[in-house]
Amino acid sequence: MGPPTGSRHFRIERLADGVYAAFARPGGFALSNSAIVDLGGATVVFDSTLTPMAGAALRRAAERLTGTAPSFVVNSHWHGDHHWGNSAFVGAHVVSTRRVREVIVEKSRPLFRSWRRELPKELASLRHPGPGVDRRDVPELRGWFRGVLATPATLRIVPPGVTFDDELVLTGRRRSVRLLSYGGGHSPSDVFAFLPDERIVVAGDLALVGYHLSVGDGYPAEWIRILGRMLRLRADRVVPGHGALGDARTLERSREYLRDLERRAADARRRAVPLRVFRRAAVPERYREWRFSLMYPDNLVRAYRLGTTGAG
Ligand SMILES: [Zn+2]
Repeated sequence: MGPPTGSRHFRIERLADGVYAAFARPGGFALSNSAIVDLGGATVVFDSTLTPMAGAALRRAAERLTGTAPSFVVNSHWHGDHHWGNSAFVGAHVVSTRRVREVIVEKSRPLFRSWRRELPKELASLRHPGPGVDRRDVPELRGWFRGVLATPATLRIVPPGVTFDDELVLTGRRRSVRLLSYGGGHSPSDVFAFLPDERIVVAGDLALVGYHLSVGDGYPAEWIRILGRMLRLRADRVVPGHGALGDARTLERSREYLRDLERRAADARRRAVPLRVFRRAAVPERYREWRFSLMYPDNLVRAYRLGTTGAG
């Protein structure tokens, strides 16, 4: 066992010598998972969590585990729970695609402001959650909302300063990490990391484990194509954006969820089911155990709206 490195925001799991995942704890202020990679001479952190508080705990964990302050912080995409911790990584280069940078510059501050306005009401409503909220999700939703509300209004948003389009390889004495973007599936632009020697994919929200995917800001048809390309890397472990460590089947499961969503949307459109009816469709039996079912109506709406007639 190494030194204690967990925190109230996440627990650390060692995946290989010098490779760690930080899994968000329900109720903590991380919300999304991260990874820490010791390249040998330089440390990379993948995704900086929802808050500067959890980000600071992650930076300290990375320093303790690798002996080096992180030199690079990668953002998988523009959503707040993957980059609002950036400011805690003083002196590190923030890395993502040019497109992620553009969207962060344009949308991150407005999103933060609107959440700070709306979340007090949402937090209060969790005392008596409505039928659309799974009781099991309440502690995690509470941590999410409280984390945003506990973040200073002066949050410093740090957009990526090192950008790429398709691929950037970071190499140290010990190993390489390939940062890859196959376009936008979950968001306008998504980045994932691939560790070729360890056959590990750090997926961001392109793949989740035991959680509904979040399609509301995404492009499901593109996403299916992206997962197909990712599958060709033949990773046997996947660190998802949310949920526990995944395996060789994780990417396939995420793809199947999206295909199922696309089939349903295409079928509803073919049968001229109005959107207001379709959006209330029940969660399919096979996904009943998955967390964050509150995403499902938005997922249905997005797939229905983006679908082209007759396409599956
Ligand atoms: Zn996301």
